[in-house]
Amino acid sequence: MEEELNPFKIAQKQLDEAAKIMELDEATHAMLREPMRTLIVSIPVKMDNGKTKVFTGFRVQYNDAKGPTKGGLRWHPEESLDTVKALAAWMTWKTAIVDLPYGGGKGGVICNPKEMSDSEKERLARGYIRALGRFIGPEKDIPAPDVYTTPQIMAWMMDEYSKIVGYNAPGVITGKPLEVGGSKGRADATARGGMYVLREAAKYIGLPLEENEGKMHKSYEELEKLEETMPAENAVTVAIQGYGNAGQFAHLLIKRLFRNAKVVAVSDSKGGIYFEEGLPYNRTAEVKSKTGSVINYEGASRITNEELLELDVDILIPAALENVIRHDNAENIKAKIILELANGPTTPEADEILHKNGRLVLPDFLANAGGVTVSYFEWVQNINGYYWEFEEVYEKLDKKMSKAFWDVINTQKEYKEKGKDIHPRTAAYIVSIQRVAEAMKIRGWI
Ligand code: NAD
Repeated sequence: MEEELNPFKIAQKQLDEAAKIMELDEATHAMLREPMRTLIVSIPVKMDNGKTKVFTGFRVQYNDAKGPTKGGLRWHPEESLDTVKALAAWMTWKTAIVDLPYGGGKGGVICNPKEMSDSEKERLARGYIRALGRFIGPEKDIPAPDVYTTPQIMAWMMDEYSKIVGYNAPGVITGKPLEVGGSKGRADATARGGMYVLREAAKYIGLPLEENEGKMHKSYEELEKLEETMPAENAVTVAIQGYGNAGQFAHLLIKRLFRNAKVVAVSDSKGGIYFEEGLPYNRTAEVKSKTGSVINYEGASRITNEELLELDVDILIPAALENVIRHDNAENIKAKIILELANGPTTPEADEILHKNGRLVLPDFLANAGGVTVSYFEWVQNINGYYWEFEEVYEKLDKKMSKAFWDVINTQKEYKEKGKDIHPRTAAYIVSIQRVAEAMKIRGWI
């Protein structure tokens, strides 16, 4: 893998840059540059054809100074330890930026879930927990769904863990179905958290994104039923790359929560579409679910994923893959705000270029922290055995996300006053590193 694109090297480079600017002491820096604990397990699974297949699983517990480690589980044929390590590092900064009492972790299994039956998936889920059960738990390390893992898989894992410990332990894992201790508001939490950050960012740079009064705390089911308002004269234009969980909810929410938002382009792995009048959410989502791709939307012009990134829009939302904004296309990005719902869409070289050109990047571990924040709410509800309504979840999420945005901006301003012009990702790193470093110091580690 090219050095510029190795995710763990990128995570370390981002940390190094922030550490240098904030003059972080050597021991704290060394501790934060590598995971505290890396577990690699072999999981034997009886397949439907009677043969046993051995899968490799990972769990990286990056840093637990602020609390139990927290982070998703990915099931992917090309899963690698470097990817899991990078994501575990980013989870550490993500939980810290919204100030949750957690550290960061991540896990994965090398497998192709698209080629596995439900019962094979169940045996793999249970096998993973048997292999790692003693290292995880509500007070130790709390997994969650991620790429190709689902609420059902979380339910099997929670059940297996509960059997091992001998009591019901819903707090061992989040992203569960509602029937077994999931939280209301988890499904659209990532995109919604991003919308709260976006609203604050629009206020900050003076982008006239108009809040649709009283809609911010409605559930997505209620929002889905609302008629879409026609985009106003002063529409704020939006392009979304990726039309999965994050991208699709971003389309639904941005059009309902902000009266004058107009989504002019969306894409998925097959390509993109552009429609100047604005793409209605319900019809676009229907085309995607019925035909498998947004490119079959009739009447829109076809564009490539690369062209989508370079469109002359106000807001660009990368919600698919990592490393899509690089040194070779960053100069061409025209959006005023880049809301990174995807993890790692921008390389460090591109960050410098975007900042120089006055683009406001809302970095991934700030912009997409809504998912882990509602996961934290789920864990709190599990521990208390008392469950909240949508409004309560959204109000608490709004407070966490808005505060995190201003913590980053105020840190950026503070450094500017000291003569250091840093971009928002570095400012976000500084906020998170300070919180983790402080916890390590108070515990007496450093
Ligand atoms: P998903 O699998 O639901 O959707 C991914 C989308 O990206 C699909 O529409 C797919 O067609 C599209 N895609 C794949 N390859 C593409 C390509 N080459 N070009 C353009 N689009 C492509 O995944 P998701 O849950 O929406 O996650 C998307 C991103 O957001 C990931 O980086 C993920 O890590 C991040 N994220 C998601 C959550 C969450 O709660 N869902 C939380 C934090 C971060």
